Amino acid sequence: MQHWERNIATDVMSRFRLDGRNAVVTGGSRGIGQAIARGLAQAGARVVITCREETPDALSFLNELKQAGHPESRLLICEVSDPSDVKRLVDDVLLDWDRVHILVNNAGINILGAAENYDLEDFDRVLDVNLRGVFLCSQLFGRQMIQNGGGSIINIGSMSAEIVNRPAKHAVYNASKAAVHMLSKCLAVEWAPHEIRVNVIAPGFHATDMVREVMSADPATARTWIDNIAQKRIADPNELAGLAVFLASDASSYMTGAVLMSDGGYTLL
Ligand code: NDP
Repeated sequence: MQHWERNIATDVMSRFRLDGRNAVVTGGSRGIGQAIARGLAQAGARVVITCREETPDALSFLNELKQAGHPESRLLICEVSDPSDVKRLVDDVLLDWDRVHILVNNAGINILGAAENYDLEDFDRVLDVNLRGVFLCSQLFGRQMIQNGGGSIINIGSMSAEIVNRPAKHAVYNASKAAVHMLSKCLAVEWAPHEIRVNVIAPGFHATDMVREVMSADPATARTWIDNIAQKRIADPNELAGLAVFLASDASSYMTGAVLMSDGGYTLL
């Protein structure tokens, strides 16, 4: 066989399994990150979840993971925009595990506001968490993936990276997510020789704290959003878990730099 060919096992379902793989999910305490962490664990991975504060809800989710047959699951505190915090996270994870196979850069924030009055401190905060945080975690976990034979990085982007999702005003959030999509494509090319795949999940509206807050504060915006979704509903965060398992696993072994939209058809209309 030529060096540019690869033989792949024909048992398709076994290629979705993550047994023996170690995963880190930033912002895995609630919302989309929680659903993804649960999905990865169900597929067999050992999971570390991170958040900024040890809340009762975060601890209760950790307990759920442990009870579900993963006693080695951990909750670690990390501010993703802070290099020393991210370094501490990597060091802490590698105390227990020899390597990390899967990194899900999920932690993210949105601060709404009209562009003409947008506060520059809010601008810096959104970029710090959504872009610098993704870059920092990718860089530090990427280094150990390079040393240890590769891995799969999944970045949570947004459909708002590709379209202007009116009438809510969040130009800076949208721009930060567009940067995440492009960063992911660049890392996919740079790190392909190291067997690291980098892909993006671009969600539409999912029922988490982030989206519920906007929808309940502004019913007119909520109505416009629902009208513009082909499936006429927002999603349950659990609807992203299968996509994350797919991208984390060997089932997507020839996929890198891809942006997978899961938006109920919003971006089609
Ligand atoms: P939530 O607000 O429900 O949860 C955010 C998670 O990120 C929490 O675990 C939070 O930790 C963590 N987090 C936030 N800021 C930081 C930080 N600076 N450092 C470390 N952790 C942080 O958000 P969602 O679940 O809705 O969103 C998850 C991702 O999906 C985000 O990147 C978001 O932009 C993206 N997304 C969401 C959509 C949606 O419809 N919900 C649509 C498109 C994209 P803590 O609990 O400590 O605050």
